Amino acid sequence: MTQMLNISDLLVRVDCSLRSALKRLQDSARGVVLLVDDQGRLLRTVTDGDLRRLLLAGASLDETLAVLPALPPKVILAPGEPGRALAVMNEFRVDQLPVVDASGRPLDVLLRRDVDRQILLSSPHLGDEEMSFVEEAIRTNWVAPLGPNVDAFERELADYVGIGHAAAVVSGTAAIHLALRLLGVGPGDTVLCSSLTFVASANPILYQGATPVFIDSEPATWNMSPEALERALSDAARVGRPPKAVVVVNLYGQSADYDPILALCDHYGVPVVEDAAESLGATYKGRHSGTLGRLGIYSFNGNKIITTSGGGMLISDDSELISRARHLSTQAREAAPYYQHTEVGYNYRMSNILAGIGRGQLRVLDERVASRRAVYASYLEGLAGIDRLEWMPEASFGQSTHWLTACTLVGGADPAGLIAKLAAERIEARRVWKPMHLQPLFAGAAYYRHGEDQDVAADLFERGVCLPSGSNLSKADLDRIVNALRRAILSDQS
Ligand SMILES: *Cc1c(COP(=O)(O)O)cnc(C)c1O
Repeated sequence: MTQMLNISDLLVRVDCSLRSALKRLQDSARGVVLLVDDQGRLLRTVTDGDLRRLLLAGASLDETLAVLPALPPKVILAPGEPGRALAVMNEFRVDQLPVVDASGRPLDVLLRRDVDRQILLSSPHLGDEEMSFVEEAIRTNWVAPLGPNVDAFERELADYVGIGHAAAVVSGTAAIHLALRLLGVGPGDTVLCSSLTFVASANPILYQGATPVFIDSEPATWNMSPEALERALSDAARVGRPPKAVVVVNLYGQSADYDPILALCDHYGVPVVEDAAESLGATYKGRHSGTLGRLGIYSFNGNKIITTSGGGMLISDDSELISRARHLSTQAREAAPYYQHTEVGYNYRMSNILAGIGRGQLRVLDERVASRRAVYASYLEGLAGIDRLEWMPEASFGQSTHWLTACTLVGGADPAGLIAKLAAERIEARRVWKPMHLQPLFAGAAYYRHGEDQDVAADLFERGVCLPSGSNLSKADLDRIVNALRRAILSDQS
């Protein structure tokens, strides 16, 4: 997908004719070619305007670039502070800016149109049909929680992932909260939860007054380590206090390894809540991510692979669990000719308008998965041979959506430094989630490592970076990110 700028396509020597320099300009579509000496060092830039002025002054197309006057080029040096590019362009009123190494050899040419637009980590990407579902809801005055779009969205999503039942709610967090409530989690209970995740996986444990116990990741998937889970479950069994539930998270679009996880949880009789907020569209051994636990949840927050601006879904094959979830999420209002309640409920149902957005988004989910995977593939290709990056491993048991392309820096490079360099070029990258067992909120919570001396989650946090991964990134965006990454990483090396 990515076609890297091949810098040699832009290099011309002084014996190059004006005719072939013009042809190079046209082919490269960068608005500039670079005149270099015998050692490949930049002498000056040559633009369309430069050549046109020569021709108007009577030069012939067969003359060489030797007729050009000397003109010390405006450049930035790699390692340059990348954020300077736009400032330098503004100061010298140029739209192209060569990047050169310490000996003056060109590495890249930055274009104004590429350096001044913000690239986000993961932004919403609407399809063609959302508007018609939303319009229909407004036209028919279904501007309320619940309504035909909610029913249809639940059914369509359940069919898509191949599960019996689904309840649409206001957020993924609300769906996790309902799941724990349905499993009877309450004060004094413990709930096991992946440590390497967003805080939304664990907050509902606190909502229910229960105690979280965090489980490390395994290196092969970055998801819950079966080894650590086994120790946690057997320790709990030994003291006669089995956990009430296990929240297993599927990180960055990749499923956890459920065969060993479910075998352990079955053995100890503990139900699994599958936090598939980040993995809708992924698979595990032919089954859809989210459908492997007793209950599963998805998120439709604005940064997820599909969005309703904000929303979530609770799914299960157990129809009773899901109808009870619908009851609890409408204030646990009972069937009576007046407002009657015997237990605490929540206002968690999705609105009919937002469900309309969800229906449109579901129709483009397969395309979004393909685009996110293509983004990952273009990073792999564009950064091939850079051994200071290691990609999040892709497990062979299924297909990851690569919701976010994540990598680790090797050789002691600092993720914060890389992220700052990209930010200076208006490219948003983020650290990998800070594990829950390192959060002040959960200070003192028990934690089970993958190995005695191996805290995988902490290590991934220390070295991990998430790169822009939106399904709406253009090829030019990806070129810009890849080039910025190359510069940032190579400059670190020197
Ligand atoms: C986004 C996310 C959630 C929460 O979803 P919301 O819809 O934002 O409440 C839960 N878990 C994980 C792993 C997430 O990434």
